[in-house]
Amino acid sequence: MLTMATSIIRQASSSFCRATTTSVRIRSGWSRTMMSASDDSFEVAQFLCLSDNYGYLIHDPKTGETAAVDTPCADSYKRELERRGWTLTHILNTHHHHDHVGGNMALKTEGVKVYGPAAESIPGMDVALKERDIVSFAGTKAVVMDVGGHTRGHIAYYFSKEKTAFVGDSLFALGCGRMFEGTPKQFWTSLQGLRNLPDDTTIYCAHEYTEANARFAMSVEPGNPDLVKRVEEIKVKRARGEPTVPSSLGEEKATNPFLRGDVSSEIRKNVGASEGDDGATIFHKIRLGKDHFRG
Ligand SMILES: [Zn+2]
Repeated sequence: MLTMATSIIRQASSSFCRATTTSVRIRSGWSRTMMSASDDSFEVAQFLCLSDNYGYLIHDPKTGETAAVDTPCADSYKRELERRGWTLTHILNTHHHHDHVGGNMALKTEGVKVYGPAAESIPGMDVALKERDIVSFAGTKAVVMDVGGHTRGHIAYYFSKEKTAFVGDSLFALGCGRMFEGTPKQFWTSLQGLRNLPDDTTIYCAHEYTEANARFAMSVEPGNPDLVKRVEEIKVKRARGEPTVPSSLGEEKATNPFLRGDVSSEIRKNVGASEGDDGATIFHKIRLGKDHFRG
């Protein structure tokens, strides 16, 4: 079982290939490892890539297998692998956007297999995945979830034994990805699928967008005490230059407006939902509200 807070290591080395922008005030070179509590699980290394992407490496000390979850930037991954003495064996892509697959070809050497969504064009893809496929990795396995909506074929990787999900740009801390390709019905169905995971699932999303997401969340559900408390905690973390990712699904269910349209009358009122709107329609109104929000 993976215990996320067991060990946090901060290192001052440069671990991303472009200078961070002022839009995300994360300490330069920030990086940490989530160590597993028992020896039958994997480690997750989290580090910054580009301006606001998180890079992830999953490593199993027993087998030596190491998976990159998306590849925003090859150089930062190479540095992180070298620094830790890990050898890449898998690339697990969530969707086709360049800030998720841009490093694929530079990282794909002999012995590295690239996994990705069957419905999308992924550079160097060896294994095309669809809903409920299983990816074997390091003696454990990830179930593939179809979480289309941000892009049409977006997938997530859910490690049930480790209670860990890598969700790319489908679900963010207090937010969700923009709906570039999918439909409201598709996106809402995807989010409901994620919402059905156990509350203690650790959610690794791909961007540090939480402060902006928090401002919008507070504009639509200021009467939610769990949200008010979480936003205060986020402000403290960001002021210290610390990440707000990962989060737990339970936190998201309690505070993320994109998971709450059908359970919060306050949100429905504030996004102009009508009596009788179905979940997808309410979700769409929340999404449009965020798209146009200037807060
Ligand atoms: Zn994307």
